[in-house]
Amino acid sequence: MTLTVSSPRKATKVKYVYFFGGGSADGNESMKNLLGGKGANLAEMAGHPNLLLPVPPGFTITTAVCTYYYDNKKSYPGELSRQVEQSMERMEKLTGKKFGNEKNPLLVSVRSGARRSMPGMMETVLNVGLTQKTIKGIIAQSGNERFAYDAYRRLIMMYADVVMEKGDGAEVKNARLNGHGKGIRKLLDEKLEHIKQLRGYSNDTDLTVADLKKLVIDYKATVKKILGKEFPDDPWEQLWGAVGAVFSSWNGKRAIEYRRIEKIPDNWGTAVNVQAMVFGNMGNDSCTGVAFTRNPGNGENKFYGEYLVNAQGEDVVAGIRTPAPVNEYSKNEQSKQFTALEKLMPGLYKELYRYQKNLEKHYKDMQDIEFTIEKGKLYMLQCRVGKRNGIAAVRMAAEMYAEKLIDAKTAVMRVGPNQLVELLLPMLDPKAEQTNPVLAKGLPAGPGGSMGRVVFSSDDAVEWAHRGEKVILVREETSPEDVDGMHKSQAILTTKGGMTSHAALVARGWGKCCIVGCGDIEIHGGSKSFRAKNGVVIKEGDWISLNGTKGLVYEGSLPLVDIDLDKNQSYKKLMKLVDEIKLIGVRANAETPADAAQGLKFGAEGIGLFRTEHMFYGEGSEQPLFLLRKMIVSKTEEERRTALKDLSVYVKRDIKESLEVMKGKPVTIRLLDPPLHEFVPHDAEKLQQLSKELGIRMSVLKRRVLALHENNPMLGHRGVRLGVSYPEITEMQVRAIFEASAELIKEGKNAFAEIMVPVTCTVNELTHQKKIVDRVYSQVCAEMKMKEIPYLYGTMIEIPRAALRADQMAEVADFFSFGTNDLTQMSFGFSRDDIGGFLPNYLDEKILYDDPFQTIDQEGVGELIKLGTERGRKTKPGLKVGICGEHGGDAESVKFCHRIGMNYVSCSPFRVPIARLAAAQAAIEFGKKI
Ligand code: PEP
Ligand code: MG
Repeated sequence: MTLTVSSPRKATKVKYVYFFGGGSADGNESMKNLLGGKGANLAEMAGHPNLLLPVPPGFTITTAVCTYYYDNKKSYPGELSRQVEQSMERMEKLTGKKFGNEKNPLLVSVRSGARRSMPGMMETVLNVGLTQKTIKGIIAQSGNERFAYDAYRRLIMMYADVVMEKGDGAEVKNARLNGHGKGIRKLLDEKLEHIKQLRGYSNDTDLTVADLKKLVIDYKATVKKILGKEFPDDPWEQLWGAVGAVFSSWNGKRAIEYRRIEKIPDNWGTAVNVQAMVFGNMGNDSCTGVAFTRNPGNGENKFYGEYLVNAQGEDVVAGIRTPAPVNEYSKNEQSKQFTALEKLMPGLYKELYRYQKNLEKHYKDMQDIEFTIEKGKLYMLQCRVGKRNGIAAVRMAAEMYAEKLIDAKTAVMRVGPNQLVELLLPMLDPKAEQTNPVLAKGLPAGPGGSMGRVVFSSDDAVEWAHRGEKVILVREETSPEDVDGMHKSQAILTTKGGMTSHAALVARGWGKCCIVGCGDIEIHGGSKSFRAKNGVVIKEGDWISLNGTKGLVYEGSLPLVDIDLDKNQSYKKLMKLVDEIKLIGVRANAETPADAAQGLKFGAEGIGLFRTEHMFYGEGSEQPLFLLRKMIVSKTEEERRTALKDLSVYVKRDIKESLEVMKGKPVTIRLLDPPLHEFVPHDAEKLQQLSKELGIRMSVLKRRVLALHENNPMLGHRGVRLGVSYPEITEMQVRAIFEASAELIKEGKNAFAEIMVPVTCTVNELTHQKKIVDRVYSQVCAEMKMKEIPYLYGTMIEIPRAALRADQMAEVADFFSFGTNDLTQMSFGFSRDDIGGFLPNYLDEKILYDDPFQTIDQEGVGELIKLGTERGRKTKPGLKVGICGEHGGDAESVKFCHRIGMNYVSCSPFRVPIARLAAAQAAIEFGKKI
């Protein structure tokens, strides 16, 4: 391959090549865009006065050359070859070796390195410069003929694959022509295996010099035959070939796909790093390793890593041999019998330890480092910010802040809001997940891990749970009638439904593990079993395990790892910083005193949504539900009032308990929302029972129930519409709120209720209901002999028209709370319960990029929220604005709410910490809210 150079241009001073090594570097860490992450960090390690680490010298060809390469028919800027040659001369001076020299040859590695790490997505060629001539020098240098030939056969294989086949775009063509349908790497690999089999070897290391020499001859012949070209024996031809192949690999299939997923722009390009080779496989005084400056698994401030004696970097990553621990601390079950580097090479370990300390201090973050020891000399090959799990992230952030390594804002930015989920819920043991195949995949609706025996109905779940069994409820979808069984289950798995379907919403509220929309399984109700896509049949009583954070279902019972938040000091310290920084409030959606207490424990500053209808579902709901039903099927206002009077006792009790738990913090109580028919039994047996209990003839009851039927209840007689048709329902609820507040205040406690009217679309509805509120307020004040009872009157904004006419709504409302579940449903016209049926197609086809029920659609629904807030505040500048849809616990949505100037977000108790962290990050990223 020859170097294609574009026509001579005017002399240009553009610097395309950045050198590093020998105690200096042309670039530094801040130049990631130009040098790529790897190149920038190599420059920093080699050249920064605080570091000056032993980095093998080398140079980086910039990402600008990659852009040029693609813009100019795969050619290079004219100036490039001179700059490369000059840098090579500097490398030669520093190493005392010469590229292509027969006696003392320099070998180099050629690696990719984009702005953001794209692990394993692009190509690398090692041992470049090894030829028939230079191999003699390598043998002389190393005194190890076997090593030299092993390096040679590795180069031929890598080069033929990466440069001659893939880099040339010849891959497909050759696979067709050679009649094997195999790539060159595979063919050469087979040759290696053949020799091993012939000789009865089990390891590559068993190959003798004679074997390797034979293999090299065989490899070259095969390359010639299959690819139609000689393997190049000229070092410079090898170098330019490798550089071109790395640039080409930017547009390889894997790299393109990875960029799509990670949203990395195509025009960034990759840099190419050419660096002097050092060998960890030169004998037992050589090794190579990977290490972290702190433990990435739990965050502990301990040096943690692995190494392999007499090996190359790829061997550690590829997992061919079990690596040994760098120190006692890094020992695990598999590696406990190996000698730690600390013991094997104590002096070098100390040196490495010093460097890693230095690196962390310099970068002020946990570093992932690669090192090689060649014949007793340590080299640092790479460093970058290390990946860590949620638990480790929180610990590192809190401890680095305490160590004064980072400031409060940096600590808060170090943890991804969703990483907090790992701290809140038990998880499946990650080790067990690695060794068990996934049975099915669905939408991750309720995070955490869980295992239990499969049941297919809510009643069975209750019954089995009573017997002390751990169960997982598997349903096509759930409805309010399933709540009891759902509550008793360890986890819920549904085959239909989206992220805000009933099951998802309820499970999330409880912090329960849940997977919805799991189309990979089919339920056979008759035989009480389900069949997974792979044919596995799970019957009632069989064990399954769920990873609700990722939406994965496993057969059998996998172990859980439990986490106790109260004991996590790092979490507490980090969240203290979070609360000092964040500017908007975070409340919890909670309907029971237990939920309210949970919310408080997680740091909620109030309740943003108390759904009154909750008392009619699940445990203890029999009596209130009976009274509600009685009220629903009443014929006259008088009958209704009687039923309501009895019901009000329960409503008041419920509200009072939650107000009391919250100790004067605001509690937004929403008036009854669901359509009434949802509460009436539909099967004959239950209807018969009701007719008996109410003393109403079955035929009459049936007629009344039928009259409640609606074709589209979500757009029907619900929310404020109930209060307009039946003012006595509003009256009863409002009275319960005022009486509960007044009683608490009289008992010397604090109470602050916010009355919220749902599903409004015009100010006239609000005015209509306000008259009732005012009247009842005066009555209760008089009855309780109180001058005032604190409260606010407001509305949910969940219908687009209400957002558009927010100016008028604010004339009557003291506050708005955006109900983004319904607002999304009504803006898109997507049913929140059925979106699971087509959402995957929309996401696959990139018609939508996110589930709009999970993260606010900022361009559409978000515009309505913004406009509603602005118009509302134009009328009433002090208007309090919040959100209580599921989005209130989604980090991106919380950031949006901060930006548009909301006062608070409200979400399920288990999401409160996530929302708090997201709110603090928004304050750091966007500053003061508008
Ligand atoms: C909403 O619509 O966003 C909301 C919070 O109310 P619900 O989910 O109860 O309809
Ligand atoms: Mg709603």
